[in-house]
Amino acid sequence: MNVYIPVKLYTGKGVLKAHPEELLSFGKRAFLITGKHGAKGSGALDDLLEIFEKNTVSYDIYDEIKENPTVSSCIEAGRKAYDFQADVIIGIGGGSVMDAAKVIALFAKDPSLDEEKLYAKDWKKERLPLILIGTTAGTGSEVTKVSVLTDKNGRKKSIHDDLFYADLSFGDPSYTASMSSHTARSTAIDALAHLLESYFSNKADVFSRSCSLEGIRILLPKLKKMAEGVSLSEEDRTVVYEASLLGGYAIASTGTVFPHNVGYYFTETYHIPHGFACALFMEDLLEYEKKNDPAYTEEFYSLTFSKEEDYKDICEKLLPKYDISLNDETLQKILPRWEDNGSVKNTRGHMTVQDVEEILRRRFQ
Ligand code: NAP
Ligand code: FE
Repeated sequence: MNVYIPVKLYTGKGVLKAHPEELLSFGKRAFLITGKHGAKGSGALDDLLEIFEKNTVSYDIYDEIKENPTVSSCIEAGRKAYDFQADVIIGIGGGSVMDAAKVIALFAKDPSLDEEKLYAKDWKKERLPLILIGTTAGTGSEVTKVSVLTDKNGRKKSIHDDLFYADLSFGDPSYTASMSSHTARSTAIDALAHLLESYFSNKADVFSRSCSLEGIRILLPKLKKMAEGVSLSEEDRTVVYEASLLGGYAIASTGTVFPHNVGYYFTETYHIPHGFACALFMEDLLEYEKKNDPAYTEEFYSLTFSKEEDYKDICEKLLPKYDISLNDETLQKILPRWEDNGSVKNTRGHMTVQDVEEILRRRFQ
């Protein structure tokens, strides 16, 4: 078991205001990264600005980060942060904003970096200090070393590096109350996908499995509630956020497996939110693993107090209906992306692109 997840994390209601000294320890010039909705709608931005005003911190805000953020927006923000002579980058938002902030902290240190150098990891091992404040409960990006960005060709690609572990993260579940029900569903199912995929990763170990098992055990009842259309209480939202962080710890150790990477294509092409796109293949993963290793899969159900039908039911009720059909020509065009793909190879059972093809044909033809 090798564990290296060096993020100082505070969770719970009011954590931001409870730790102003930590926030302020990185300097007096802060560059904030947000989108248009989460930071303001959740109240997180106001809480932060109140601390800044009391402590005369100078700040500037880049609020142009969109869902599935582009590398080009990160380059732009990085240059602005450099010109501002920022001491620290603070990302406030969901996975999109947090992932962007990770890379912006790098660009802000070296504005000569470009997209090519970013993906080639042709960079100095240096970035500005990085603080993340989550406003969704799903990606676990608060504690992962992953940044998923969209490149200049419209492809979603993940970059993994220890440099992307934040120095400090805040997970206040009360910030997630302002999410629309659509976003709350998509992000919660993303958390389930992380916990589940990690369990069926070739890299799963006793640490990641512990996170997965406990995460799924506490998350499933809340997902069932959401699936029945029951609104979540403050206590439920806390549990969902905690489960999402356990999912983050699980994938920080193992990475994700095929549903995540295959899902990227469906987000790019059909604009399906990330969590829903991954969940399209949740049942396929469980079916594949049932054939691959029935004992391990049965044990998983028994340890999580769950049944195969639970996952089917949750997906059926939480996912919108998508009208997707893939003809042979499209399939031939897209399959090469999974030929030598890390997430496919990371799936337990020596999964290959032929397995992905079979799944896509069964689902969409
Ligand atoms: P998101 O794309 O960050 O946010 C979805 C939408 O919800 C956005 O319009 C956002 O608005 C809004 N929003 C966020 N918080 C809100 C709040 N509290 N109240 C109202 N609206 C709010 O969704 P996400 O699922 O958290 O992140 C998905 C991204 O993370 C994808 O790009 C995915 O690939 C990536 N991801 C990363 C990891 C990782 O380990 N790093 C893992 C899984 C997924 P604004 O953005 O305008 O604020
Ligand atoms: Fe995800």
